[in-house]
Amino acid sequence: MTHDHAHPHTHPHTHDHTHAEGSWRDPEADDRLSVSRRAFLAGAAVVAGAAAGLGGAVAGAGPAQATPPRPGPGGRPTPVNPWRGNARFLAGDHHVHTQFSPDAQYEVETQVSKAAEYGLDWVVVTDHGSVAHQKFSIDQVTPRIEASRQAHRDVLVYQGLEWNIPGAEHATVFLPPGRNTVDILRAFELAYDGSILQSTGRVTRATSGDGEPFAVQALQYLDQQVLARRTEIALMFANHPARRGIDSPHEIRAWRDAAPSVAVGMEGAPGHQAAGIPTAAGGPGKGRGFYEASPGEDSFPGYAPTATENPYRTYGGFDWMTAKVGGLWDSLLAEGKPWWVTSTSDSHQVWQDTRVPGSSDYATTGTRGTPVDTGRPISTYGDFWPGQYSSTLVVAQRPAYLDVMRGLQSGQVVAVHGRLIEGLDVRVRATRGDGDARGVTLGGRTWVRRGGSVTVDVVVDRAAGPNASGQVPQLATVDLISGPVTGAAADRDTLSAPQTTVVETWDVQAGRGKVRLSHTFSNVQQGFYLRLRGSDGNQLDAAGNPVMDVAGNEDPFADLWFYANPVFVDVL
Ligand SMILES: [Zn+2]
Ligand SMILES: [Zn+2]
Repeated sequence: MTHDHAHPHTHPHTHDHTHAEGSWRDPEADDRLSVSRRAFLAGAAVVAGAAAGLGGAVAGAGPAQATPPRPGPGGRPTPVNPWRGNARFLAGDHHVHTQFSPDAQYEVETQVSKAAEYGLDWVVVTDHGSVAHQKFSIDQVTPRIEASRQAHRDVLVYQGLEWNIPGAEHATVFLPPGRNTVDILRAFELAYDGSILQSTGRVTRATSGDGEPFAVQALQYLDQQVLARRTEIALMFANHPARRGIDSPHEIRAWRDAAPSVAVGMEGAPGHQAAGIPTAAGGPGKGRGFYEASPGEDSFPGYAPTATENPYRTYGGFDWMTAKVGGLWDSLLAEGKPWWVTSTSDSHQVWQDTRVPGSSDYATTGTRGTPVDTGRPISTYGDFWPGQYSSTLVVAQRPAYLDVMRGLQSGQVVAVHGRLIEGLDVRVRATRGDGDARGVTLGGRTWVRRGGSVTVDVVVDRAAGPNASGQVPQLATVDLISGPVTGAAADRDTLSAPQTTVVETWDVQAGRGKVRLSHTFSNVQQGFYLRLRGSDGNQLDAAGNPVMDVAGNEDPFADLWFYANPVFVDVL
């Protein structure tokens, strides 16, 4: 396994080299589109509310939920279906660092070039929030992001922040390019970054529980910027959520419910996926994802390692919150509310790269300076380049800043490692003309009359060529996972959904091209959701679940998974 065999452009996208015009150059040029989008979203909110009223326990879904419940036409809800006939998957990464982080080193241009080389269509620059970053780094990174947009017309380069969530872990926060983007990010960081709150004594520690109200206010602030039309959209994804056990279930629920159109999900898989490569193979020999912590002062006591399970470790490279069937992610979905998962690189220092940080003093300059090439591959680095291993596939009608963010917001998202699949078409249809006859897709919501049937049709687009290891990944299994929607959790620290199970496993024969799968839920009596995951079949336990990753003994390209986001079905 070596990235010398990197195979760029294995992703069969037709890049539109004109798409960046009218989006980043002139933020208002998307306005005509955004008006219709707003109308669509307003409709979605009404629909979600109607579904909530008629469907019973379901509390509303879809990207916007502010509108009160209202009956749909004929007393039935219109499905929420993000599917558009001409849409396609765009691969990206919402978590990338540069020399403007105190623990990273690359130029923005380097990271964007690598993203392009590995076939990504979009990338978010997310340097760590801090006093120095807020004071010194923002003004330096902004022109470099603009320059990289000019240099790479086939990659959307978003400006963002890796926010120290007060009382909790890190999160990606990002906005589309616009005239207020930098001002909003700067004000947000000053007012709400955990490290800055700590520096001014407003919280005990960046991760202490007294920061929790600031986190909620921060997300409401972003929501207000959207409502005030200072930005078209703002998104937040919780990063490496289980790494240190400090994102408690009630905090995640609080973020989601404070600003449902902003706080939309979490990393299903963290970055740093090369960290578990054995030292004998020239790797760091650490925990995959650098997940090797134990419970600490600010950790949630419910995340308790046992003899058979450790929430502080990854499973098949994915965070425990996502990887465990009937675990935390499912407990959120069982409430009938959206919460999406992604996969990112968290690229700081790339495995076997030869560069070291420059000599600039970060605390007083906000940059580490120009990296220095030592000429020697460095085995302690645990990251991949953007797109080299992790990708978040998002459905968008065209490669434009707002479209990709709307795709992320609506949950048309698949988290993939090692380019195991190119895409995934999911359509959920109810019998007797219920719901949406076209089939509701990822992130959507449909309905069926009690006792009816619901069929899910899946077309998996398998890897079309080699990934960055030089091998063509082979999809071996696909699991259909489903559980009932049981309504708002009475206990906000609920972290399990015991009725959620794998309802069908398909074995997939080796090969390329499309694979069609189908499953019918008959005599449906209760609202439910379904989701899909798949693997290369290399590291499964007896039940077909991912195995807990072993520190210092993980070849990431020999343990590949994808996770698709859910579809909800109401029963009338
Ligand atoms: Zn982080
Ligand atoms: Zn990071």
